[in-house]
Amino acid sequence: MKRTQGMTRRKLLGGGVAAVAAGATLLAEPQQAPAVVTRRRFRAWISRGDGPGRTSLQEVSLRPISGRQVLVRTEATNLCYSNAPAVLGQAQATGTPAPQSVLAAPSGARRMNDLAVIQGHGGIGVVEAVGPEVRRVQVGDRVCVSGTPQCGSCYRCVRGRSDMCQFLSAIGADDLVAIGDLGDGSPVYENSHIGGLAELMVAPEEWIVPLFTRADTVELGMVCSCVSVAGLAAATSPNLAPVEPAAGVAVVGCGPLGLSAIQGARIAGASTIIAIDPIRVRRELALRVGATHALDPNVERDMVIQKVRELTVWPTDRLWAGGRNPAGRRPGAGADFVIEAAGADQFPPKLEAGPDPSGILPMQQAYQMCSLGGHVITTSLVRGNITLPGTLFSIGGVTHHGGQAGGASPLRDIPRFVRYLENSQFNSRALATLVVPLRDMLDAYTQVAYRTTVTAIMTM
Ligand SMILES: [Zn+2]
Ligand SMILES: [Zn+2]
Repeated sequence: MKRTQGMTRRKLLGGGVAAVAAGATLLAEPQQAPAVVTRRRFRAWISRGDGPGRTSLQEVSLRPISGRQVLVRTEATNLCYSNAPAVLGQAQATGTPAPQSVLAAPSGARRMNDLAVIQGHGGIGVVEAVGPEVRRVQVGDRVCVSGTPQCGSCYRCVRGRSDMCQFLSAIGADDLVAIGDLGDGSPVYENSHIGGLAELMVAPEEWIVPLFTRADTVELGMVCSCVSVAGLAAATSPNLAPVEPAAGVAVVGCGPLGLSAIQGARIAGASTIIAIDPIRVRRELALRVGATHALDPNVERDMVIQKVRELTVWPTDRLWAGGRNPAGRRPGAGADFVIEAAGADQFPPKLEAGPDPSGILPMQQAYQMCSLGGHVITTSLVRGNITLPGTLFSIGGVTHHGGQAGGASPLRDIPRFVRYLENSQFNSRALATLVVPLRDMLDAYTQVAYRTTVTAIMTM
């Protein structure tokens, strides 16, 4: 292995021109600390079997770290709604199957529920050990274990769609690699190769984003959560359709993802931000973090589309004067950008239920409240197929953008979102409505599942 004349890689990269001039080379092999971790024991929430009670706190002994694996000591992780059925093991609200990701791996030889799995999908923490092939981070780095990977070299990564990175297609039961063992000898796996509901996370470096920040643990855990990353990306990521300054924006669904999208739209300089959610406390929170208007879909019903058009009306309809609605042929304007973040209920909400537990109606409405020539960004999992007016779809000029994690490019976008936090542009505290230690995870997840909290952050 070639040495870099005693310089660490960070010094090399930080030294810039001077370091290069001094003879250092960017092509040197990384010098990583050896990954000597001997059967370390740690606490983890292990899910196995079917039905309620499938998740319990257990002690795991860690397997040696190798290859591109990174060992992260967890500081905080978000309890994501999409993971609630796997953790709580309860039937979905409607008795119909859970919405599936289009990238889900085909069923293979193993059944996920038979494996001992640490649920969760990512979090923040500090690197404790790295495999010999890891280049992206070093021991001691504070990192985000991202919900979506970015290998940087697959077909979709090199085309600017790292939210569709090849590694997302390799997270099925047959793809998972054991990272530890239970006392009874059962191998322990992690959801999506990353887990999160444990004192340690082991992840391939494709999922790791170095952060270089001293931000507060809970606030950092929130802004780096899958939901905030997806919401901020849906509003600001150049991969899809970033909100333009002074635009009119509608956000359909004000869970943690929608509330992050609202903040992203505010940061981008939108002039009108309409929040739509059936839950009163969520609408109030939306107004606190940046929405200019809030609508209750249970009150507005079919009129919600018309209401958005009225709220996004332009100062003039006059032809030749910048009018958007010549001769009043289309009532009102419609939002320039619509971010859909509603999704299907996976549990019957204990606060106000929305008009459609499948999530289909809000998605259809999102499309129809968009301005002619505007952009619709969808982010949620729904049950079933959507139906749209064919001619509007065909020639209405509405551009639909779908993507994982709001189209986020993790290595580019997550550090950018951390700057939003450091600059007091993003309000993490308002979203992290429940903060719990590891031992209280199940209670907190129950509140997330029944929507009695916006979201929950688990700390160690
Ligand atoms: Zn998530
Ligand atoms: Zn990739």
